Amino acid sequence: MDFTFTQYQNLLKYKQISFRHDVDRRPEKSLKMAQLEHQHGIKATYYFRLKPESFNEEIIKEIINLGHEIGYHYESLCDSKGDFALGIGDFKQNLEKLRKLYPVKKIAMHGRPTSPYDSRDLWKKYDYREFGIEYEPYFDTDYNEVLYITDAGRAWGDDSINRRDRVTSKYDFDLTSLEKILKLLEKGQLPEKIIMNIHPEHWAESNLEWWVIWGKRKVRNFVKRVYLRVKR
Ligand SMILES: [Zn+2]
Repeated sequence: MDFTFTQYQNLLKYKQISFRHDVDRRPEKSLKMAQLEHQHGIKATYYFRLKPESFNEEIIKEIINLGHEIGYHYESLCDSKGDFALGIGDFKQNLEKLRKLYPVKKIAMHGRPTSPYDSRDLWKKYDYREFGIEYEPYFDTDYNEVLYITDAGRAWGDDSINRRDRVTSKYDFDLTSLEKILKLLEKGQLPEKIIMNIHPEHWAESNLEWWVIWGKRKVRNFVKRVYLRVKR
């Protein structure tokens, strides 16, 4: 089954993958995923929007405490309706707000499909490095060196859904399901470096619940065994 936390765990054993998360909405889901990654010793980057449906100070603090990195998921040129001066003002203001919680050095564009504006266009006029930003995945990754896989639109490798989340790359793998991706990983057929852009909101915890029940069962059985041993 695609998009379950259980299946997601299978990805976490591949050290060649860097996990990048866009927190479009439902930050509590990101926290759950951050906890899961933490259990597997994985450090990921969570890009937050400065919108009520994403920005949640408490959750951001908890994710930081789990050892993950925080980035800014900007959409400034969409919010300013293409006005560059207003857009960069919005960018600066939001970055400052986020930096009260974490020394943000990474940004990634939120591709709002309903907006005609592409917030990356800001960087035709301005330079994000002047704001202390060191990494914007779209500009600062060589996608011929790194394989990019995204679950944007809750689909794998579907360009018809991913309006803006695309990169030009020499790679041509069949990455249309997580099962296929996992199989290629298992066979060692994917490149040395992979970036996976995962939206935690898409992922179901139904199997995690299964593990919780399994865990409780285990504890209960353990208690039972101890009890029986003491009784003997
Ligand atoms: Zn986004």
